[in-house]
Amino acid sequence: MFKKILIANRGEIALRILRACRELGIKTVAIHSEADESAMHVRMADESICVGPSSAQSSYLNIPAIITAATLTNADGIHPGYGFLSENQRFAEIIEEHNIKFIGPHSSHIKIMGNKIDAKKIMDDNNVPTVPGLNDISNKKDIDNFINKVQLPIIVKAASGGGGKGMRVITDYDDINNAINSAKAEAKKSFNDDKVYLEKFLITPKHIEIQILADSQGNVITLGERDCSIQRKHQKLIEESPSEILSNEKREEISLLCKKAVSSLGYEGVGTLEFLYENNNFYFMEMNTRLQVEHPVTEMVTGIDLVKQQILAASGEKLTISQRDVQLKGHSIECRINAEHPESFIPSPGKITQYHQPGGLGIRVDSAVYQGYSVPSHYDSMIGKLITYADNRQECIAKMKRALEEYIIMGINTNIQLHQKIIMTKEFQSGKYDINFMSTFN
Ligand code: ADP
Repeated sequence: MFKKILIANRGEIALRILRACRELGIKTVAIHSEADESAMHVRMADESICVGPSSAQSSYLNIPAIITAATLTNADGIHPGYGFLSENQRFAEIIEEHNIKFIGPHSSHIKIMGNKIDAKKIMDDNNVPTVPGLNDISNKKDIDNFINKVQLPIIVKAASGGGGKGMRVITDYDDINNAINSAKAEAKKSFNDDKVYLEKFLITPKHIEIQILADSQGNVITLGERDCSIQRKHQKLIEESPSEILSNEKREEISLLCKKAVSSLGYEGVGTLEFLYENNNFYFMEMNTRLQVEHPVTEMVTGIDLVKQQILAASGEKLTISQRDVQLKGHSIECRINAEHPESFIPSPGKITQYHQPGGLGIRVDSAVYQGYSVPSHYDSMIGKLITYADNRQECIAKMKRALEEYIIMGINTNIQLHQKIIMTKEFQSGKYDINFMSTFN
């Protein structure tokens, strides 16, 4: 078992990992930038080390500084959280070269899944249904044949894509060249890889993803699904588990396929297979080889601490939970609380002058902010996650409504009111919303 884990992240996820470590009796090292000197993750960790100036590039993405911090503090494990270096294959490799354990899958799995074209091929080979696509777009004839087969609209996507970047929807045949070129340029800029591919663009799908957990001895379990269809600019805003529209049969069918595919890879740790779901069919899009922002809704309905399990798996422990032990019970919803202007969505950094977070039965707040804290402008605008849990979906929504009303954050703009509006709409209440929900919402 680990003695000391360095947490290569900040904000709520750094706290989340720190809490799991503490319960497992593992010491923690926080890293921080100059801007985060007084951040809560720094205050709560057993040790802390400054790894660079405020910009993410010079601190939370600064691999040499992070490795030096781990070596100086004698950490035997590094947890990357999500974002930053969590899906950086080279980071995982360097850590292993320093005889420190990367708390995540083997670097080769990060590499394969980091390329969405390769990931789709693997899933195809394992009978997991994928979105119909065209990988090699060098030949105009192939593109024409593809369009004839699937019909417009189609979408151009970046092979190394993430965060909704490098995507262009094509509805008009004449736009193909422009769309491909601009997606390529954005992909090159964002991921230093201009490889793009085509996919059929599904019109009214839901985004449904399956959580998996695997140990190093080949045992794999699935932990149900999350419906993440409430998105803005392809970024998730609200997630829930289970999905209101998924039957037990469909859940079992897709979970079994995911489990088989992940087993055949020899994958270790937590992971998420992301699908579009339309007309009762699943279409694999990509696999995330890390802990997800929205993991708490799965924890609430399964009662399983995913971060502890992830750490135990990385330390070589055998899974003690069998598939039969995983019973989805009740309902959970997560609202991502962002420091941003409610209409323009422009980030709203600054000092939190008043702070009161909701509580009571079935309310969970994963956040690292506090009264008097200054939200820095250098990082993502998400400042917390409000999660509710109840016996059924209706009660879970009622709890979320009550909790959002109780949540007071003054001094900066937040999207709390936006969440209040969304959860009261007919579509959200019915659970039948799809990924277009936010584009038609006002
Ligand atoms: P990223 O890794 O950048 O987040 P994803 O491949 O996960 O990109 O897609 C993000 C979102 O974009 C999906 O949840 C969905 O809303 C939309 N999307 C992606 N591919 C398609 C598609 N083929 N048809 C319709 N929507 C899509």
